[in-house]
Order: sequence, then structure tokens, then C-alpha cells
Amino acid sequence: MEYARSNGHVMRFIEYMDVGNTNGWLLDQVVPAREIRDAVSARWPLVPIDPGYPGEVARRYRFADGAGEVGFVTSVTEPFCGSCSRARLTVVGELYTCLFAAGGRDVKALLRDGHDDAAVREFLAGVWHQRTDRYSELRSAGTHDLHRVEMSYLGG
Ligand code: SF4
Repeated sequence: MEYARSNGHVMRFIEYMDVGNTNGWLLDQVVPAREIRDAVSARWPLVPIDPGYPGEVARRYRFADGAGEVGFVTSVTEPFCGSCSRARLTVVGELYTCLFAAGGRDVKALLRDGHDDAAVREFLAGVWHQRTDRYSELRSAGTHDLHRVEMSYLGG
């Protein structure tokens, strides 16, 4: 944090998540963002600030002494699926509408079949409007063994 503050970087802390099935995630290993925020704030007092844009995932704070800002992504302890606006397109042309999805939708086939922009737009809008993803809100012992795509497959 000290490095980020003195070099003009905006630091983001993100809670340890159960992305994919190979990172050995356990709930009791998660350091809640509020704990990190309290630790940072104890040294450099923080003031909450508004999101920079609709659906921003980090809860933003500015340093009371004017040395920039910091953000905390509370994916596990305070999920934000209700305002999620993130879609991910893999290098093989699959559209994923959730970081924790088991599979994606084939956009490449649509493009290879020669569909025009309007058709592609309609397809994307249809997929997005039908999505019901809210994995982080449902996360529990019951979701632990569900198949989830690996973060490295999605590219981040
Ligand atoms: S769990 Fe899925 S729907 Fe919820 S915020 Fe994360 S990516 Fe979005």
C-alpha cells in the first residue's frame, strides 16, 4: 500500500475467490475485504467515494491525506451480482456471462457463418438478457464442487 501511495498507483485488493476448480480455495482462507480496509484505514484514514461508473466492482475510498485512492473487491463477503455487467469473450470465441460459469456460448460460429453485425448484436443482447448468473450470491458448501471454468481460460 505504501508503494502504491508513493508511486501514484491505485491499488485494488480482491478477496481470494474460488475461480475454477484447481486453486484449492477454502472459505476459511479468505481475508474479508473489510478486514483489509480496516487495516489500511488504521494507518492511512480512508473516506468512501462513489463508484467511477455503473457496475464498478471495487468499493472505492480516497485517502484522507490526499494521497490518491484504493479499492476493495468484496466478491465473497459482499457479492455484487445484481449490478454485474461483465461478459468475457475467450480466444476461441465463446461468450461467458459469469466468471464462475461452466461453459460459454459460441459466438465464433455465428461470425464464421457470415452473420452481419445486427445479427451478432441481437445474439449478444439475447444471451445477456436471459442470463441468471449470481454465483457469488449462491456460493456455499453446495457450490464448492460445481464445475467452473478456469480464470486462465477466460483470460482474467
Ligand atoms: S459471480 Fe458471476 S454474476 Fe456474480 S458478479 Fe461475479 S461474474 Fe458477475
